[in-house]
Amino acid sequence: MSLSRRAVLSQLLLGAPLGGALLASRAYTQAPTRTSWLNPYRDATSRLIHASTKDDFAWRRLAELTDTFGHRLSGSENLERAIGWAAETMKRDGLENVRTEPVMVPRWVRGRESAEIVSPPRHPVAILGLGGSIATPPEGIEADILVVNGFDELRERAAEVKGRIVLFNAPFTTYGDTVNYRTGGPRSASQLGAVAALVRSVGPTGLRTPHTGSLQYGPSAPPIPAASVSAEDADRIARLVARGITVRVRLKMEAHAEADAPSANVVGEIRGRLRPQEIVLLGGHLDSWDVGTGASDDGVGCIATWEAARLIMSLGLRPRRTIRVVLWVNEENGLRGANAYAEKHAAQAADHVFALESDSGVFEPASLGFTGSSGARTVMRDIASLLSPLGMAEMVGGGGGADIGPISQAGNTPMAAYLGNPARYFAIHHTDADTVERIAPAEVAKAAAAIAVVAYVVAEMPDQLPR
Ligand SMILES: [Zn+2]
Repeated sequence: MSLSRRAVLSQLLLGAPLGGALLASRAYTQAPTRTSWLNPYRDATSRLIHASTKDDFAWRRLAELTDTFGHRLSGSENLERAIGWAAETMKRDGLENVRTEPVMVPRWVRGRESAEIVSPPRHPVAILGLGGSIATPPEGIEADILVVNGFDELRERAAEVKGRIVLFNAPFTTYGDTVNYRTGGPRSASQLGAVAALVRSVGPTGLRTPHTGSLQYGPSAPPIPAASVSAEDADRIARLVARGITVRVRLKMEAHAEADAPSANVVGEIRGRLRPQEIVLLGGHLDSWDVGTGASDDGVGCIATWEAARLIMSLGLRPRRTIRVVLWVNEENGLRGANAYAEKHAAQAADHVFALESDSGVFEPASLGFTGSSGARTVMRDIASLLSPLGMAEMVGGGGGADIGPISQAGNTPMAAYLGNPARYFAIHHTDADTVERIAPAEVAKAAAAIAVVAYVVAEMPDQLPR
């Protein structure tokens, strides 16, 4: 590509006499490879990787976020305090145009909740109410359980649903395959007359940990209370039922929605040296569920993308284009932050030349996912080769993220994702076990380094990433 010739030529022309001679002889004896256009960025790449991986700065910042503010559900005081801290700390880092962009977010409150098998012998069931669920009456709902393995079995046994609590006991395969039971199971059960729904946790069998997450009621059926059940409790109930035993459960939940609350996306930038209106967008979401401390989902995505910008700035690198970090709010139960960002910046959507979200954890082995045209993929594959010191030179499909989605769709923007190992990520996803202890300092440092290198090159290279 013409880019590489230009880069080599300019080095030859600008090099000092001796360096120029050395370069010239090297250029003469070594045929330019497909990735020689990256040569101007190799020094910055080494410096960024060294600066990120030399200590545990990013992990300590993640621990500060999660220790100080805890979990950060939309509408909570914890989240608002974390927003204030992030904006203040970004300013202290030296990021530019640091601001909060207001958005109203839904406020759902879990309250107390419990479930118990009441048909003798009594036994507590490990549950977490699903986000958005309504409450039970104060005395709870008591009913016999109907266990189904999936939507097909629910339809086959439609006549048995009325007045029962339906337990969706679909084994976890992948998040994408089984999350539908959490989001849509309660609605389907309600359509057939169920009084409540329990959903086997969307995650591998862990340490009897239920996994929360959002549900979606529909207009065609009344909302019913719904909770996730640990895999072990779901298995136990299913085994009892398979032996011909009627399992009767009492479910008590206080969950309810309150009025929308003011919140804000946090934005910080490195203004572009030559084309400041062109934006390389990075970020994660600062909100979390109200269990654990939202370390992996998605405190670490916020810290890693923010750290990428801080590293670039701290090394005195000011790329051609603007690098903008956004810590979105309300990814978990509404996407109000992502939608507000896309609305506010709609006129500049096409100026978003690249967007990267980190919302899949940073667990090893991690990879870089990308979605874009074949032309963009070729360039990105080259850029990913710079990450070979981090062991991630191979790029995979599947870039994108819930928060960068709306603006990227509007701007036809190529999208990337930092993808942690899904087995480790979904083991603690939306559970009380999502704390900073699960994450190794080296994993955060590597994510920040990889994101910094990609963002820097995409923001600095002469031509935009192809659409
Ligand atoms: Zn997330």
